[in-house]
Amino acid sequence: MDTYLGLDYGGTKLLIGEVDSQGQVLQSKRYDTGTLTQNEAVELLKTSLRDYLHTMGVQGELKGAGIGIVGVTDHQNGRWISISHEVTGPAIPLARIIEDETGVPAAVDNDVRSATTGELLWGHGRGVENFIYINVGTGVAAGFVTGGQVLRGANNNAGEVGHMCVSLGDETPCVCGRKGCVETIVSGTGFTTQYLRLREQVPDTRLELNARGRVDADKLFRLADAGDALAKRIAEYGMDVLAALIMNLVRVTDPELIILGGGVVSDGWVLERLRPRMNAATMRGVSKGIVLSAFNAYETGVIGAAATGMQLAKERAEK
Ligand SMILES: [Zn+2]
Repeated sequence: MDTYLGLDYGGTKLLIGEVDSQGQVLQSKRYDTGTLTQNEAVELLKTSLRDYLHTMGVQGELKGAGIGIVGVTDHQNGRWISISHEVTGPAIPLARIIEDETGVPAAVDNDVRSATTGELLWGHGRGVENFIYINVGTGVAAGFVTGGQVLRGANNNAGEVGHMCVSLGDETPCVCGRKGCVETIVSGTGFTTQYLRLREQVPDTRLELNARGRVDADKLFRLADAGDALAKRIAEYGMDVLAALIMNLVRVTDPELIILGGGVVSDGWVLERLRPRMNAATMRGVSKGIVLSAFNAYETGVIGAAATGMQLAKERAEK
């Protein structure tokens, strides 16, 4: 059985797992990450990968590996440019590092484009030539598949739709330097930003920050359902903005299908609120509709990373 190793490196965890050629996760192991510099992250990756291979071993015949990682990546050359929006040092040859540890071809991509590749090979995007995968989690980003190919752009930055300005009157500043970005309104960080901005205006609320200083999306939605004024305002505003984003994107690439992924959308509450907000004329060509990712949210990153590894291994084998 051919298998592929997937490494999902995010802000809180590194999940390493082995995936078969049908996209089934055979085994996985979690490592904590946290706030690290790019070089510290590379060291953690190496030691974790060694630990994984030593303690978990390999169940099938490993043919390729992939890593989906935060920040800016250079998929073409297998390099990791930076851990955040800011470039702080030379690009790291991450593919080569993983190839040295595993002995198989390794691919590097950012987390959301990896997840998009996972959808294309093994998810709802299988056999769909044109779709958009939208991830709503801590932030917001999208992966575009047009003509069966994942769009990357000149600087591997295509899909940063969380920084599309959809609320022109909104003065909330964003980390990117603009105001009224999607991500400052409808995301894990956006809900928190809006809570801090609006709680003086709407003081009658049971919504509060959790131990990590964040608004918990599940709690926000439950309170909104219960009629809590502040929760309702933040959640409704978020849904209006997300609906506007999706319809704007539909006008750009003319997809057949929209797939939603990420922690904020995983329980279906969001999808239920989005559907009535969709304009029928705009969505007419989206014949397969809007669906939730079929992958378990915890494993999506590993599945996507393994998918990029499988794609690269097949490309190399064809050469
Ligand atoms: Zn922004």
